[in-house]
Amino acid sequence: MPEIIKDFLPRSLKNQRPGNPMTPKYITVHNTANSSKGADAEMHSRYLHNGAGGRVVGWHLTVDDKEIYQHLPTDENGWHAGDGNGDGNMSSIGIEICENSDGDFDKAVKNAQWLVKKLMKEHNISINNVVPHKHWSGKNCPRLMLGNWDEFIEGIKGASGTVDAPSQQVGSETVTNGSVVDYLNSIDKDASFSNRAKLAKQYGIKGYKGTADQNLELLNKLKKGKPLSKPSKSIKVGSKVYLSKGAKKYATGENIPSSIKGKTYTVQQVKGNKVLLKEIYSWVYKSDVGGSSKSTASSKPKSFKPGQKVTVKKSASKFATGESIADFVKGNSYKVKQVKSDRVLLDGIMSWVRKSDVY
Ligand SMILES: [Zn+2]
Repeated sequence: MPEIIKDFLPRSLKNQRPGNPMTPKYITVHNTANSSKGADAEMHSRYLHNGAGGRVVGWHLTVDDKEIYQHLPTDENGWHAGDGNGDGNMSSIGIEICENSDGDFDKAVKNAQWLVKKLMKEHNISINNVVPHKHWSGKNCPRLMLGNWDEFIEGIKGASGTVDAPSQQVGSETVTNGSVVDYLNSIDKDASFSNRAKLAKQYGIKGYKGTADQNLELLNKLKKGKPLSKPSKSIKVGSKVYLSKGAKKYATGENIPSSIKGKTYTVQQVKGNKVLLKEIYSWVYKSDVGGSSKSTASSKPKSFKPGQKVTVKKSASKFATGESIADFVKGNSYKVKQVKSDRVLLDGIMSWVRKSDVY
């Protein structure tokens, strides 16, 4: 089973994360239409995190032959179906399947079938509501799958869709996005619609249909009454913390992508041994963050200034945008044209390189 890496877009990226509450009724399948080498799920995650080149676009999950990146919680809408405020954008979970030429497309499709089956179960969505992008807007998408769509649907029915729980059991207060499904998954509980309906009944929620309101009510009831342990390190709400490069997993059990590590974030909430980081809206362990700039200075990104000359390390392999760095660039010196949090724009090649890849 592929791993689902939750790498939610910050709410500040309105064009990618519009944030309207959604009760998913459909699942919409896309192809990325990007056959470039390296155009895998991680690259598309970076693309969205970087503002999608100024486009108004956002979807929930990207699947490649190895892993799955989740960009949006499934109880918020995205912009991917091309039908304005229709059901495609407002009531469907958007899945992009990668077609990078250095990936195994058949495997990516299999992973997508597994994912669709899991989502159908979690959100009580019928197979008839699993649709191609074309269904909403007429666009030729997913372009590699429209010719054998029935086969794709048949494969979903057969996919071994066991819902895998996160590897780490964490405290009951660990909720990353207000979704009851994610919450149940995070405490190793069955998050299927039928089990949620059962829980809803136990907690006195009548006529449970899985609407956003009911899910929120259920979530709050499930969370109530759980004792909170005392903070072990004193980290205050509003303070800036540095997420260690050595951090491995979110407090919810998913792997932390490397693009997230080694940066400074604002603490939005503190609970027990965990802190909620505002910009990435994710819970991490206190042991993985440094509370003050002093204690973390050694691992902070170096400071660069525009106009300064830097040399690209011979060991550098990829640009900050994901493409491979050509050999002739390595070991060469360039003038810094612009500086952003973790990267510098190099004059001459007009490319973004990670600060850690230059000196
Ligand atoms: Zn599409």
